[in-house]
Amino acid sequence: MVSRHVNTCCRQNSRSKQMFTQTMAKKFCLNKTRESIVFNQKCLIHLSPKRHNPLVAIVLRQAAKFVAVLTGRVVRKWWRELPPNKRQLVIQWFARHKWKFGLLLLSSVLAFVAYYTSHLVDTPITGRKRFIAFTPKQLKEINDYEFEVQLETYKHKLLPSSHEMSKRVARVATQLLNANNDLPQIHDNEWSISVVDDLNIKNAFVMPSGQIFVFSGMLAICDNDQQLGVVLAHEMAHCVQCLHHLLYNN
Ligand SMILES: [Zn+2]
Repeated sequence: MVSRHVNTCCRQNSRSKQMFTQTMAKKFCLNKTRESIVFNQKCLIHLSPKRHNPLVAIVLRQAAKFVAVLTGRVVRKWWRELPPNKRQLVIQWFARHKWKFGLLLLSSVLAFVAYYTSHLVDTPITGRKRFIAFTPKQLKEINDYEFEVQLETYKHKLLPSSHEMSKRVARVATQLLNANNDLPQIHDNEWSISVVDDLNIKNAFVMPSGQIFVFSGMLAICDNDQQLGVVLAHEMAHCVQCLHHLLYNN
């Protein structure tokens, strides 16, 4: 039953002894991470609402679509209404400047190839090459922005760390992290858990940097901690490849 719902979720630096101790301390205090999330949430509301307003992004995206559609229609209408002799003049103008257009096309293709090849990285587990559009810094910025958007979205439904459901998720997540501590991506990353109280959403998802969100609807269908473990392990697995890029390609 759980695995059926899991499929719906995808939407998605050598170590000193001191660092090791710090990382382990974070992992063992997963339930306390909630406190920092609540803190982040407050910062978001009071310190940077304008810069992080997702509404601006939504409006801009819709405006860009509208402009693209409008431009396409205007050009088509202009071409249809053009008299045949004028059309011929336009075609001749393009023919006269074909070398310029050719050069523009060639430089665009070369720029794309250079961009593509410079963004190929080695996949740590399979050893294959893969394309990643963003640098670790850019990816981290996108991740942090999206994390704040999610916190803002669910701010009225986030359960405190003292809640039984939060404790349950923290307990299972800590077990998984400790059991996989030999994986650098698990060991070196700072993981966090947010439990959202919404019984209608039978889902869980994770941010590339390891911020896991679990909905109470998903917790309700996990009859035991083993099933919840499968869900959380699935979410953590999403991050492992991405974390390699984020943590070690600086
Ligand atoms: Zn998934």
